[in-house]
Amino acid sequence: MAGEAAIVVGMQITTRPAASPSPTGLTGPVFRPGDPGYAEEVAGFQTGYVHRPDLVVGAADAEDVRRTVRYAARHGLPVAVQATGHGRSVPAEGGVLISTRRMARVAVDPAARTVRFGAGARWGAVVEAAARHGLAPLNGSAPSVGAVGYHLGGGIGLLARRYGYAADHVRAVELVTADGRRRRTVPGDDLFAAVLGTDGNFGVVTAMETALFPVRTVYGGQLAFDTALAGEVLETWRTWTAGVPEELTSAVTLIPFPDLPELPAPLRGRYVATVRIAFEGSAEEGERLVAPLRAVGARISDDLREMPYRDSAAIHRDPEEPHAYAAVGAMLRELPARGVRAMLAAAGPDSPVPCVLSVRHLGGALRRPGPAGIAVDHRDAEFLVQAISEYRPEGAGGGGDAATRARHGLLCAALAPWTLGQNPNFLYGDGPYADERRVRELYAPLTHKRLTALKAVHDPANMFRFNRNLRPE
Ligand SMILES: Cc1cc2nc3c(=O)[nH]c(=O)nc-3n(C[C@H](O)[C@H](O)[C@H](O)COP(=O)(O)OP(=O)(O)OC[C@H]3O[C@@H](n4cnc5c(N)ncnc54)[C@H](O)[C@@H]3O)c2cc1C
Repeated sequence: MAGEAAIVVGMQITTRPAASPSPTGLTGPVFRPGDPGYAEEVAGFQTGYVHRPDLVVGAADAEDVRRTVRYAARHGLPVAVQATGHGRSVPAEGGVLISTRRMARVAVDPAARTVRFGAGARWGAVVEAAARHGLAPLNGSAPSVGAVGYHLGGGIGLLARRYGYAADHVRAVELVTADGRRRRTVPGDDLFAAVLGTDGNFGVVTAMETALFPVRTVYGGQLAFDTALAGEVLETWRTWTAGVPEELTSAVTLIPFPDLPELPAPLRGRYVATVRIAFEGSAEEGERLVAPLRAVGARISDDLREMPYRDSAAIHRDPEEPHAYAAVGAMLRELPARGVRAMLAAAGPDSPVPCVLSVRHLGGALRRPGPAGIAVDHRDAEFLVQAISEYRPEGAGGGGDAATRARHGLLCAALAPWTLGQNPNFLYGDGPYADERRVRELYAPLTHKRLTALKAVHDPANMFRFNRNLRPE
């Protein structure tokens, strides 16, 4: 560690080295604070806070990742990873950031019905590549999300009730571990079971291989209802979910639209309930299944239709513009009417902090045990609630705004009687959104214990800690 101010405190490494040399032999670019391109490289979808590393490596390939991790190990530096910034949790203060956006190769094997994608591939590209062969991956709602990061959080997709967690269908993970070795790990390995569900705690994933499914079209889209019907829509949907087949996955999102002139008139200042539907089945059967939802009343919009799977981003129509946000979620064993009332009282239309409230229907194949003991827990959940709010952190790297935190805390407390825990992909924000208490909520206690023990084996110095961190124990 000559020439550096890195200090080892117990097993934790603290950062801020004096200027150290860069890794050698890289194909991709390197940026230091103040360099042209540094700000663009650390930026991403989450604009509330950013990574502030001492060094950014724009990795071009797995060999760049290996060289960078070796360099970090030699110099006692922690390593953060970013593909798109959608799921950034603990921001890097110092250390090294490996930016994977250049590693975006996608290769489909139509005969094997598998796809291999690099660490920087986004869902949009994977969906498109698979669709050319009449196949579909288990992608989520937004095409701009990174496919690797999504799998590292379990992955609750558009057809989740039919196929289960995306992570359950991973065939191989290639990664660089803290000792600087490139490894390929497959179901049955200890390391494979540790990697999926743990947000980069066990290494830098360079590529993944997963299964594809013969899905060419779905019946889906959105129904939107105005303020007066919002409560009834939610209640009708809640009871309706009990009778739908696994082929149908749906969600309700309640959106408090601000009173802004740039919004279309029917949405401006309104509290809108949207029902998002994805059904793997015929349009006729889809129409029959959604009839009770349409019967609630007049819709602001209704675009349910048969669509090519490659257009499935139209089902949720998630925002594509980077912004600042924080979210809490709750995996619920059930959602009784009392739970809905508690949820709306805490974070509904009268909330002083506007919350976009989503309730996803889980169950179905999501209840099946995961293969090879992967760390994706709370499989008994029937619903997933999430509240997303605008987020104005007090300082970079920082803590988050108190009113939002308090409101999200109220929601969690209101749903506590039915809550099994959190899901990593539905928790956004830094500070208390990613602290040890939250990390424990992601797993069953025994899983957490197993993971912290494995972390001590695979990453004893906690090199990979700018994430929802599992401390080595
Ligand atoms: C608009 C939106 C829609 C979403 N929809 C869904 C959905 O439908 N279903 C669902 O399950 N999730 C969904 N998510 C959650 C999303 O899957 C997670 O936030 C995921 O972590 C994003 O990964 P990323 O690579 O895009 O983001 P990044 O911020 O780049 O990465 C997130 C974290 O993943 C880890 N990571 C990423 N790449 C690597 C790597 N190569 N090696 C090691 N660690 C890595 C790092 O800890 C990193 O901080 C959504 C998120 C947003 C913002």
